[in-house]
Formats: sequence, C-alpha cells, structure tokens
Amino acid sequence: MEMQELAEQRDIVIVGGGICGLATALALHRKGIKSLVLERSKTLRSTGAAIIVQPNGWRALDQLGVATRLRRTAITIQGGHYISLADSKKKEIPIGNGEVRCLKRTHLIETLANDLPVDTIRYECQVVSIKLDPLTCYPVLQLHNGSYLQAKLVIGCDGVNSVIANSIGLNSVKLFCTCVVRGLTNYQNGHKFKPEFVVMSKGRVQLGWMPMTDKLVYWFVTRQWTSQDLAVSKNSMLIRQSTMETMKDFPDDMMEMISTCYLNSLHLTDLKYRAPWDLLGNNFHEGTVTVAGDAMHAMGPFLAQGGSASLEDAIVLGRCLAQKMNIMNQRERSSIVKMMVEEALEEYAKERKMRIVWLSLETYLIGKMLDAKSVMVKFVIIIVMAVLFSDPIGNTRYDCGRL
Ligand SMILES: Cc1cc2nc3c(=O)[nH]c(=O)nc-3n(C[C@H](O)[C@H](O)[C@H](O)COP(=O)(O)OP(=O)(O)OC[C@H]3O[C@@H](n4cnc5c(N)ncnc54)[C@H](O)[C@@H]3O)c2cc1C
Repeated sequence: MEMQELAEQRDIVIVGGGICGLATALALHRKGIKSLVLERSKTLRSTGAAIIVQPNGWRALDQLGVATRLRRTAITIQGGHYISLADSKKKEIPIGNGEVRCLKRTHLIETLANDLPVDTIRYECQVVSIKLDPLTCYPVLQLHNGSYLQAKLVIGCDGVNSVIANSIGLNSVKLFCTCVVRGLTNYQNGHKFKPEFVVMSKGRVQLGWMPMTDKLVYWFVTRQWTSQDLAVSKNSMLIRQSTMETMKDFPDDMMEMISTCYLNSLHLTDLKYRAPWDLLGNNFHEGTVTVAGDAMHAMGPFLAQGGSASLEDAIVLGRCLAQKMNIMNQRERSSIVKMMVEEALEEYAKERKMRIVWLSLETYLIGKMLDAKSVMVKFVIIIVMAVLFSDPIGNTRYDCGRL
C-alpha cells in the first residue's frame, strides 16, 4: 500500500509549537482558518527565561489580539546605557520612544496557546522527515512513531535545527564563538534598578539586565564558548558557578544578582545563525511547504529580534493565506487549492525576504564583532555597520501591517 493511502489527511500542518508555530496558528485562527500544530515535547516548551519584545514585536502581538494581556505582566523600559568597566566610560543605548518590555517566555507561549481552539496542538509528535507525494504533489510528513500525515500546506516552525528548512534547500545553520547564559532573579523586597536596559562589559564578557516587574529582573551574560560548556549547559549549578567565575571582576551587586537567581531559570546556549547570503538566495517555499521563525532565519540574540521577527512572519503568512483562502472558499474548486496556496507562499516570501536579510545581516555583523580577536577586524565591522545601519533602532520601526 502507498504511504499516502495510510496517511492521515489535514489541510494545514504547522511543525513546531514554539513562539512562531503558536503565533502562526493563532494568526490563522483569527482569520477563521484551522490548523494543526505538531510539537515534539510533552507540554508547551519555552527555553530561555525571558524575551525582550521591541516595538515591531508589539505591533504583531497587537494584531494577534494578545498584547493587552501581555502588557500587564511587564513594565516598559524607558532608556538604556552601556558601561565599560575597563575605563568606566558610559554610553547611551538608544531605544527610541517605542514600546520595549521583557516578557516571561512561559507567559508569551501560554497566552498564544490559550487562545487556540482545543486540540490545535498535538504534543509528543515529532516530525522526522518530509517528502512529496508523487501523485498529488502535496507534502507527506513522517512522524517518529512511523505513521504518516499528509497536508495541503506544511509550515515549518521547528526552530534552528529545522527538518523542514532542509527540505526546501536552506543550508544548515552555523555557530558563533560566543555563547549566552540567561537567568531571572527575584528580589523579594523589590529591586533598585531603574526601568532601563543596561549592558556592562569587561574584556570579552558582557552582562546585560532589564527589570521585568518591580521585583523580577532578566539578565544575560555573553562570553566565549569553551570546550567544557556542553557539559556545563546540562547542569544549572554548574552554569551558575561558571558564570560567577567569568564575572569575578564585576561589581558585588551584579555578582549577587547571579548568585541569587532562580536556578531553574538558567540556560547556557550556543548561538546559531543562518548566513544572510543563504537567505538572499532562497525562495522560502517548495510547492506547498514553507518555513517561518528560527527555521527560516535563525540569528544571534544581539539585536533581540529573532522572536519579534517570528511574530511578524506569523502575521504576514496569516494575511497572505487568508486573502487567497477567501477566494478559494468562494469558488470551492479543489483543483485551484494548490495553485492558490503556492501564490500565497510566493507573496509571503517576497514580503519577508529583505526584512529578514537586513535583520540577519545586522545581527551577523554584531556577532562577528564579538567573536573577533583582531582589533582590525572589529574596526572594519564597525565601519561597515556605521554605513549600513546608521539608525541603530531602525530595525524596531518595521511594521508588519494588519493581519
Ligand atoms: C540566547 C538567546 C536570547 C534571545 N533573546 C531574544 C530576545 O530577547 N528577543 C527576541 O525577539 N528574540 C530573542 N531570541 C530569539 C528567539 O528566542 C527565537 O527567535 C524564537 O524563540 C524563535 O521561535 P521559533 O518558534 O521559531 O523556534 P523555537 O522557539 O525553537 O520553537 C521550535 C519548536 O519546534 C519544536 N520542534 C523542533 N523540531 C521539531 C520536529 N521535528 N517535530 C515537532 N516539533 C519540533 C520544538 O520543540 C520547539 O517547541 C533569543 C535567542 C537566543 C538563543
């Protein structure tokens, strides 16, 4: 028997129930379009404590109808500065007049999921491969339990190591030399920090922090990845211990922030990216298979834009599909479905391409500057950045438009 005869049939399948998968399912739901999200974890999964959401991300969350609820959980950041411990110099970090807040990742994910119809998310369902059905030319997903699922449209939101991205010809992701430790610290009696984003640096180590509420603070430390870090990343106590050692020259109150953090909020992560030139040369869809979020544009966290860009993807994809679906419903002709979906994906890819190429390029340059040991290389990157990205908050002004 052919695999398509055994397969469960669905219209729209989203692979991955992270920020992007859930936002995409919600965008479609708001437009009256049903989808199924396949998530390999047992429950909703959110790695990395908190996420900074900038004005472009809030615009997308507004369109999804969840922004008001999320705003209640986090204060607005009103400024930022950078302090070099080597020479005590202080510099402003521009954040503009737009809305910047830091959300608990679990809040964001749960809020998106709670607005979806029951049974939209299927947990413990890992996609292992994707093929085209030779008869219908629709994609067929092979699941970890050996079963098959055929869909008219597959959207890969399966993160940096995406199975779906490989199938549409995107090259594998690459690694920066820098890694990040992230955590949350709760101050029972309230903290003393202003509503500001602060980055403090000493040598190649940077500590950044941002209050989320009057008690809770999100912080991160960037440093070089070492050969022991794979083992360290699996144990919260070791992550804290190695971070304290990295930061021994930092002020005492900063050391205290790390030493008193929630152990279970700690994550040590290597940083992967898709090269900007790979994005430039790809169409982001093959037939009725496409990608969104990190599966499409994994980038370092240096601009804190990967998550917001994923929300933008969801809005644009939802809009492009909804426009075509309306025409399809009117005509009720199944023979045009494939063509219409392909047209919608073409429009989605066209609209997203240059936005994510520029974001990825800017992030890539910052990442390479942090990686660089040579002063000359750093200098060249600074010049290139000054020419290409003279408006440091230009990336936050982007508006993905209405859903
Ligand atoms: C250190 C760090 C800090 C960051 N800080 C920020 C920030 O402050 N602001 C910001 O906007 N962005 C930030 N980002 C980027 C942001 O985290 C990502 O862009 C965002 O999480 C991408 O969401 P996603 O849904 O595409 O991928 P993911 O969050 O990785 O979700 C993918 C989902 O797919 C599931 N999955 C994977 N493979 C399969 C499969 N084969 N079958 C079924 N399910 C599968 C996974 O279990 C997961 O749930 C940061 C990233 C890092 C690494």
